[in-house]
Amino acid sequence: ATPVAIMVGTGRGAEMGVLFKSAEALEALRGVDAVVLDKTGTITRGKPQVTDVLPAPGVTEKALLKLAATLEAGSEHPLAEAVMAHTGELGIVPRSASDFVAVPGRGVTAREGANAVAAGNARLMAELGVDVDAEALDGLARDGKTPLMFAKNGRLMGIVAVADQVKPTSVAAIAALRTLGVSPVMLTGDNDVTAAAIAREVGLASDEVIANVLPADKERHVRELQEAGHRVAMVGDGINDSPALARADVGLAIGAGADIAKEGADVVLMHSDLLDVARSVELSRAVIRNIK
Ligand code: ADP
Ligand code: MG
Repeated sequence: ATPVAIMVGTGRGAEMGVLFKSAEALEALRGVDAVVLDKTGTITRGKPQVTDVLPAPGVTEKALLKLAATLEAGSEHPLAEAVMAHTGELGIVPRSASDFVAVPGRGVTAREGANAVAAGNARLMAELGVDVDAEALDGLARDGKTPLMFAKNGRLMGIVAVADQVKPTSVAAIAALRTLGVSPVMLTGDNDVTAAAIAREVGLASDEVIANVLPADKERHVRELQEAGHRVAMVGDGINDSPALARADVGLAIGAGADIAKEGADVVLMHSDLLDVARSVELSRAVIRNIK
């Protein structure tokens, strides 16, 4: 495209709240035929809320929530914020704990007095040798909820489920991308059952979902699509997404997301609206057509 067409295109993008950081980003977007979408904060709002509190037999709801608050006070994960908001409203004050370790893609462990405590998903519980109630987990996940498990000294103390809402435009955005010939794939660190429930809600087929992805592996999935011959756009909001955003042919960061994601991306979606991904592809194609 000519410099003038690019200038007009980036200006039009800016008017609709899409910041192209370079001429190359605007040009490259027209050739994209696959788009990798992060789930939490990209397809969903990224503001999960507590929906269920399920103490293990012999454990009170209060004791479970106290443990949950104690562990999640030491985590910066959006899931932790949901737990802290809920326990805070109930006036539950965390106990002091130490030796917090964030386990990527799994959860958090800590020491509380003489006790080893942990919060996280089934993978973390399996690694710690904690028996979980698989049936309860499955039921919550089928409803699109993410079950968080809390353990003390190798024993399950209960489950707190959180759920995030799909953004109002995600369904239309995924349909619009398909119409443009861009195949969507959802990538998430969440479990496969929860991921499948959200996927169904937004019109993604089961083979368009990759779940249980560890933070370090998001970039690899983008690379594998590229190696299969695709031109790949990646849309994400989190710190975890930044290597994948950099790897993609075009990385698009959600404006409401982490600064590090926006720094590494080629495009910033100021309205945090997935429909703007489809609009950006259309804009890119229009700019290129105009100069021919
Ligand atoms: P994503 O942001 O896509 O959900 P993450 O890699 O950040 O991916 O997290 C993957 C999973 O690890 C979460 O869905 C959750 O089950 C578990 N997890 C991560 N952090 C925490 C935490 N602070 N408390 C409980 N569970 C956690
Ligand atoms: Mg995210």
